[in-house]
Amino acid sequence: MQRERKDFAAYRESEEYKRLKEIRRKKRRKQVLIARTCVFGGAVLIILVVALLIRALVFDHKQLETAGKPVNILKEETYLVIEKKPDIDVQLLTPNEYSRPGIATETIENIVVHYTANPGTTAQQNRNFFESLKDTHETSVSSHFVVGLEGEIIQCIPTTERAYASNQRNNNTVSIECCHMDETGKFNDSTYNSVVELCAWLCCKFNLQAEDVIRHYDVTGKSCPKYFVDYPEEWDKFIQDVADYIKENAVEMTKEERDAYYGEGQSEQETATEENSEKNEQ
Ligand SMILES: [Zn+2]
Repeated sequence: MQRERKDFAAYRESEEYKRLKEIRRKKRRKQVLIARTCVFGGAVLIILVVALLIRALVFDHKQLETAGKPVNILKEETYLVIEKKPDIDVQLLTPNEYSRPGIATETIENIVVHYTANPGTTAQQNRNFFESLKDTHETSVSSHFVVGLEGEIIQCIPTTERAYASNQRNNNTVSIECCHMDETGKFNDSTYNSVVELCAWLCCKFNLQAEDVIRHYDVTGKSCPKYFVDYPEEWDKFIQDVADYIKENAVEMTKEERDAYYGEGQSEQETATEENSEKNEQ
């Protein structure tokens, strides 16, 4: 026992012992270094993961915010426009409370088709009847457009103003009165074709679909336009004809091109604006 202790003391003084001690010391330092590196690396990794998670959450939130809205990164939003404006004879009514009250329309949501219920009368006669109401005060009625037996289109009221045609929907619709030859209320081909053309053009102007063209019947249940109430399948065909007309004749425009087109092509709107501002000043 005593001898072993002695040997050990001697051994501790030996070069071999010192060498091994130095190796152990280096090994420990190396281990500490590895441990520190691991802790530091782990911390960096955790920070990175947290940062990525936050970024992902924020990004998801942004995506949620824009969900449902059209994303036009690649393609600018375009509008369908029929460049060939229908031949419209603008004969605006004298502003009066019986047929042209001068109240502004809101955003146009539907085009409403009517029939005059007065067989054989012309577009001009119907327009003049609306005009006469300013003196006779007989009733309150009018329409933005009247389409005649020869397909002629007369505009009585700017679409920026309300007409007295579609009851509770006068505020946000454009109305078209249609002439007809007999009691059936069926439109002849000339009238029919002009109404299709006018409806298609107005749909594009107000950014509506063919399905947004409705009957007076759809507003109040009144039998107007009679033929299309009696024969709903004929109405479906009419809507299809409007859709086909748009498909065949409309071109795509950017918002700027569209605004420029309607800004230039709408003299009756300019007249209406002037008259409205005069009216507002009074
Ligand atoms: Zn009607």
